[in-house]
Amino acid sequence: MRVGRSRPSLHPVALAAGLFLAGVTAAASPTDGRASAPEIRVLIAQGEKHSIVRGDDLTVEVETQGGFRKIINRLRGVSFSYSEGRMRLDGSDIRGGRFAVGSSSGLFNYDGTLMRGRELKRGKVILTALPDGIAVVNAIPLESYLVGLVNGEIDSGWPMEAVKAQVIAARTYALLRMAAGGGVYDVRDDVEDQVYLGPGGEDERAAAAVRQTRGKALFRAGELVPAFFHSSCGGRTADAGEIWGAPHPALVSVECSDCEGSPRSRWDLVLDRVDLQGVLDALFPGSGDIRTLGIQERTGSGRVKTLFFATGEGRTLVDGEDFRKEVGYRRLPSTRFTVSGYEGKVLFRGRGYGHGIGLCQWGAKGAAERGMDHEQILRRYYRGVTIRRAY
Ligand SMILES: [Zn+2]
Repeated sequence: MRVGRSRPSLHPVALAAGLFLAGVTAAASPTDGRASAPEIRVLIAQGEKHSIVRGDDLTVEVETQGGFRKIINRLRGVSFSYSEGRMRLDGSDIRGGRFAVGSSSGLFNYDGTLMRGRELKRGKVILTALPDGIAVVNAIPLESYLVGLVNGEIDSGWPMEAVKAQVIAARTYALLRMAAGGGVYDVRDDVEDQVYLGPGGEDERAAAAVRQTRGKALFRAGELVPAFFHSSCGGRTADAGEIWGAPHPALVSVECSDCEGSPRSRWDLVLDRVDLQGVLDALFPGSGDIRTLGIQERTGSGRVKTLFFATGEGRTLVDGEDFRKEVGYRRLPSTRFTVSGYEGKVLFRGRGYGHGIGLCQWGAKGAAERGMDHEQILRRYYRGVTIRRAY
């Protein structure tokens, strides 16, 4: 499970402003009342110089001014080479800025220069030439995406009510990213958004949780809720405003005593002088040699808002989340920690894993084990929400 996460906003990183996949994916307008599930564009690789897609009865389309034009049918493998902002379909003279590959079986294998041996499912593979190489996107039905996501974020063997709560939160997050539109993708497949494993992560319990909550999402005052989640809060979740400076009425700090079972419920990290100097120099080059450090300010939920470093050059203040990112999200699991001296080194003793905003995944598990259902769990971590179908 890779569930340490930190994301400052819901605004997608526009790989290339103004590029849209007209005619390839369903319009990302999840709340317009349509009955069919929308498609989500999942980024699986970028900066590729060579891409190979394999599958049964592959169909290749190239984007033209009038939309996509079919150029090849019934192949078992196609490869694309990148050069100076354009792609070329290998073995042909066909060049273009964007290609779409479909398959009759709905199963693909992808191999590239950087990303190798990736299994994909359903929908289409969209390859777009960007200034740094080929961006590879899998456009798939949102419900299929969710089945391949559950085991990337939690464990489908957890109590079903906790799994369903995770699915509804993840669906809501995905819908909001899709509604933002723009760029060549809606979500990344890693902790920057949500960890999507693809077909290899699917199982019957994940599929059942998705099926039983089909289309359901979290709303507040008629709007989709930015449904962030994290591994474990360590006793109290964070208010979105205290960490990202962007408060949201649904994302307020709440007590949680259900995540004690998390392996990162309590943790210690020892950093020596060289480690700490490296972190400070990376954040603020030229700050000078560290003489001492400590906590300058805590947030309302008890997380470290600011650290101070006293150096030969003066005093440097470091944002708690920036510090955690520089140390490494896995090494320093959260900003809910104390600092103390330890035989010439510094001991960070903390609780929880992740940014602490929204649903606490291990707390959802503990709550489900106590008999709470998925709607009760969601209403606990997202205040004032309505749970209803978005499509
Ligand atoms: Zn918790």
